[in-house]
Amino acid sequence: ENLNAENLGTIVRRKTRPVKIGSVTIGGGHPVVVQSMINEDTLDIAGAVAGIRRLHEIGCEIVRVTVPSLAHAHALAEIRATLKQTYQDVPLVADVHHNGMKIALEVAKHVDKVRINPGLYVFEKPKSGRTEYSQTEFEEIGEKIKETLKPLVVSLRDQGKAMRIGVNHGSLAERMLFTYGDTPQGMVESALEFIRICEELEFRNLVISLKASRVPVMVAAYKQMAKRMDELGMDYPLHLGVTEAGDGEYGRIKSTAGIATLLAQGIGDTIRVSLTEAPEKEIPVCYSILQALGLRKTMVEYVACPSCGRTLFNLEEVLHKVREATKHLTGLDIAVMGCIVNGPGEMADADYGYVGKTPGMISLYRGKEEIKRVPENEGVEQLIALIKSDDRWVDP
Ligand code: SF4
Repeated sequence: ENLNAENLGTIVRRKTRPVKIGSVTIGGGHPVVVQSMINEDTLDIAGAVAGIRRLHEIGCEIVRVTVPSLAHAHALAEIRATLKQTYQDVPLVADVHHNGMKIALEVAKHVDKVRINPGLYVFEKPKSGRTEYSQTEFEEIGEKIKETLKPLVVSLRDQGKAMRIGVNHGSLAERMLFTYGDTPQGMVESALEFIRICEELEFRNLVISLKASRVPVMVAAYKQMAKRMDELGMDYPLHLGVTEAGDGEYGRIKSTAGIATLLAQGIGDTIRVSLTEAPEKEIPVCYSILQALGLRKTMVEYVACPSCGRTLFNLEEVLHKVREATKHLTGLDIAVMGCIVNGPGEMADADYGYVGKTPGMISLYRGKEEIKRVPENEGVEQLIALIKSDDRWVDP
């Protein structure tokens, strides 16, 4: 089955367990989930509700909020209630940024998932000039972490909620740094230590992330994690992201380089693109990555040639017009090709094709079949007529 899928050019995803986050499921073969985070202050209830709603309405399936204090944790109760009354219930995740167990325990009542960062559960007392931890010290600290974490794990377990063990390259605990170095391995070991604690307490609603701002580090960490988990018989889903990717074109390319490299190898069940821009800007990037990889289809797939000396019309302008007219037709593939020479053969099995034929004339295709030739100035209109005649048109 796998070989067939690969032969067909389909990504074979790593098998993972399903983890429910409210009404959304991460892993277990479910579509890769898109998430982001609001940047409003959680204490500003109206602002936070509006931010969550704005993100959810444009396709953010799980929304994260930051919870730096107990007051923020209490605010989540109100945020959730307001969402239910004025909009709908939205799967929520609380980011608890430090070893604040009271905060985590309170917020666990009001959200579907709590994200913790193992690097912030620090019990080491660094001695000056110290460069290593003995095995005994290492394990003693591990025990302390377990004691600290236990109430949260038990609470989430008993409520049927989830936890993300979110390791960050930039904040590894000192004893991990000394033992494994500032490496992907240190990140993997840090996550595994927390997974084991959860497993000992019979809690397996876990999602794991190992983010870094350097793409090669992030890719290596997730690949190692997937491999280690497979070897250990662990099937936890992975949350992918490149931290501090920046903004603009490079921020998008950097995020895509990391996230898509892993997804293409079947690794990853949920993604977040972190941009230094309004969080709403992250969502289309997520969906574009998933669409380009064939993992989710949420928009029209346009196939268009880059144009060259043979191009018979203004390709950029026509592509723009075709897109404006058809972008709401989710599920279709539409090709716009400059000429007949390579055109039809390279339309990548698009459902419809708009192809330059002779100067001033274009051909419309259904699949590989030429349906009609029309003057270029009627091209878009006739394309719409063809889609309508096939009953595949819906009004925008
Ligand atoms: Fe050039 Fe025709 Fe190829 Fe477009 S399809 S790049 S116009 S040869």
